[in-house]
Amino acid sequence: MAPTAVGRRLGFHQERLYAAEAETIAGLGLRWGRLPDARAYVSGLIESEWFGERWPHFLRCDVERRGSGSVWSTCHRLDDDGPGGRPTEGIILVADGALLQPVVLHELAHLLVAPDAGHGPDFAETLLTLVRREMGFFAFAALYHALRRREGFQNIREGVADGP
Ligand SMILES: [Zn+2]
Repeated sequence: MAPTAVGRRLGFHQERLYAAEAETIAGLGLRWGRLPDARAYVSGLIESEWFGERWPHFLRCDVERRGSGSVWSTCHRLDDDGPGGRPTEGIILVADGALLQPVVLHELAHLLVAPDAGHGPDFAETLLTLVRREMGFFAFAALYHALRRREGFQNIREGVADGP
């Protein structure tokens, strides 16, 4: 953990999910050198037929840098017009050096689940769905088993079948 993040208190699911990501997918996947490349990737994913079948309400997502010295990536919901108060548009804010596929998919998963889902099972299943499709079966399987070993995720499914 980066020194500036030591004081940050993590939630029950958050701490376990971060650990599972760190030991499996954190070093895998695409790394973009330029913001426009990450934006094009996210737009292409959202506009794909596969994505539209699962999350038809989610229409647009921008990617921005969070700012110099930032440690944590995050995201912003731009509205609550989707099912259960989910947004139809969002922005992913990437921390320094985090223009990485696992980071972008993690933040995108936050935008796809209900606003109160946190890092719980619904979030995990959504992330697994994205990872399996975008990062491949082995990345998915590693993350799935790392999660299933952890308290709070022992009963998660392999992913979401279709829309919420
Ligand atoms: Zn998160």
